[in-house]
Amino acid sequence: MAESTFKLTYATMFNPPEELHTRFEDVLAGVKANLGQEHGMIINGEERFAEEKFEDRSPVNTDLVLGVFQKGTAQDANDAVAAARQAFPVWSKMKWQERVSLLRKAADLIDQRTFEIGAVMAMEVGKNRMESLGDVAETADLIRYACYQMEKNEGYVVEMGRDPLVGYTSTNTSMLRPYGVWLVISPFNFPAALTGGPSGAALVAGNTIVIKPATDTPFVVRLLAECFRDAGLPDGVFNFVTGPGSTLGQALIDNPEVDGVTFTGSYDVGMGIFRNFAQRNYVRPTILELGGKNPAIISRHADIERAAIGIVRSAFGLQGQKCSACSRVLVEEPLYDALVEQVVGLTKKLVVGDPTEREVYMGPVINRSSYKDFQDFTEELSGAGRFLTGGKILTEGDFAKGYFCPPTLVAGLPHDHRLWKHEMFLPITTVTKVANLDEAMKMANEVTYGLTAGFYGSAEETKWFFENIQAGVNYANRPQGATTGAWPGFQPFGGWKGSGSSGKNAGGHYYLQLYMHEQIQTLVD
Ligand code: NAP
Ligand code: MG
Repeated sequence: MAESTFKLTYATMFNPPEELHTRFEDVLAGVKANLGQEHGMIINGEERFAEEKFEDRSPVNTDLVLGVFQKGTAQDANDAVAAARQAFPVWSKMKWQERVSLLRKAADLIDQRTFEIGAVMAMEVGKNRMESLGDVAETADLIRYACYQMEKNEGYVVEMGRDPLVGYTSTNTSMLRPYGVWLVISPFNFPAALTGGPSGAALVAGNTIVIKPATDTPFVVRLLAECFRDAGLPDGVFNFVTGPGSTLGQALIDNPEVDGVTFTGSYDVGMGIFRNFAQRNYVRPTILELGGKNPAIISRHADIERAAIGIVRSAFGLQGQKCSACSRVLVEEPLYDALVEQVVGLTKKLVVGDPTEREVYMGPVINRSSYKDFQDFTEELSGAGRFLTGGKILTEGDFAKGYFCPPTLVAGLPHDHRLWKHEMFLPITTVTKVANLDEAMKMANEVTYGLTAGFYGSAEETKWFFENIQAGVNYANRPQGATTGAWPGFQPFGGWKGSGSSGKNAGGHYYLQLYMHEQIQTLVD
């Protein structure tokens, strides 16, 4: 079967084997027939129901209730932390090989359920089918990568040198040991990978966890939690709570029994968590993965076709709602007209619609608030720049039921306009001419963020680009995506400056260590 040799990643997803499509369609039909059920939280291995509930509706068609979820309270948050605390001694003292084997089981279950989770994701996030399947596949790979790192580093137990003592023998051992209770708060846009990745690392390291998904995407994360449960993780080792960030999320952040947090989401909420988290008698690890304002720089020597396709894929994949989306395009003057013509041509071919459908590239934006943001930003941009494509929400026919926005390219926006620096998180990308590459680099780096960046140009220029760009993940001459499409083990993912706090990228060499503190054990005979 073609599928057995095909490895799905964000770089390979453009030419999947036919079977991927037929299986997706089969599973989707089954999932659709079962929507609207109520789902609990999971605390200490038990289903937990709250008095208040909330409906999870699809942004594709807001009449569609995907499921009913619990509006967890501060009490639920505190119970989940207490359960994780109670489970910590057994889990952390278990041999790391056993934890690795349980997490590999969870990764295998995620693989087995890829189509089901992917079908739910397409409806819940509005993400197209290949990207939805990719998000699930990435989750399993991130968990496996954490397992691989643990094995490769033999549990992070290292014999150190022996002190030159006369008459005594001293054995010195360095170990990395888990912190305790780890909190994982995830965003709506990659609900599987950005919950499962940090969870997998925290768990392999020996921490116990509390997971809190975005209110727009509890369903995907519930399905992921079921994979942890069904893999046989002991009760309380992972806990899954749902509810508003402002109440339940805040209660988790304020709980002094939490020993570390991985937050992936917006800059404002992340910085708030960082400040809040500082209100204790000692510093706790705070891994933040925040926003981006990712530039693509196009030199006069660029391969125009590669650049154009890479830009369009990164600007409008997932409707521009990726932290890595290409939201700024900076083109050297001699190539500007030709490049823009190609980018506009490709953008006009993008199909917007129901993301579960095969030919659709762009679904709706996530919710009413993002839909309103699109209308506000485009109004502001209409006065300051010029629309090359899009600019107005889509409301005809089936579009009327969801939050559909067209791919929007804006030219002529003055370089000092505030939207060159603000993350819009929508299918809006601004394009401009620059006199030379130095001007482009200056603009590229003059933002709070430093997540991803793309470049198209000659080999020599590429070297200059990598040396000078201030971002954690950088691509040169890549048609698969100018600024998007990282995969664990290939492109470890993380940001500089306001885009992240740890300076180490997920799915890479230095990530798992963030979930452990070092202990030196010196024994003198
Ligand atoms: P968001 O609004 O910041 O929410 C992220 C998570 O934080 C949600 O689960 C949210 O819950 C929760 N939350 C909100 N307020 C909280 C509080 N006071 N205490 C604790 N938790 C709280 O972000 P989003 O809209 O879901 O995601 C988009 C953002 O994420 C963009 O800025 C994007 O760039 C960034 N992102 C970064 C990366 C990366 O790897 N660097 C990856 C993906 C996305 P509710 O949903 O209930 O409010
Ligand atoms: Mg929803």
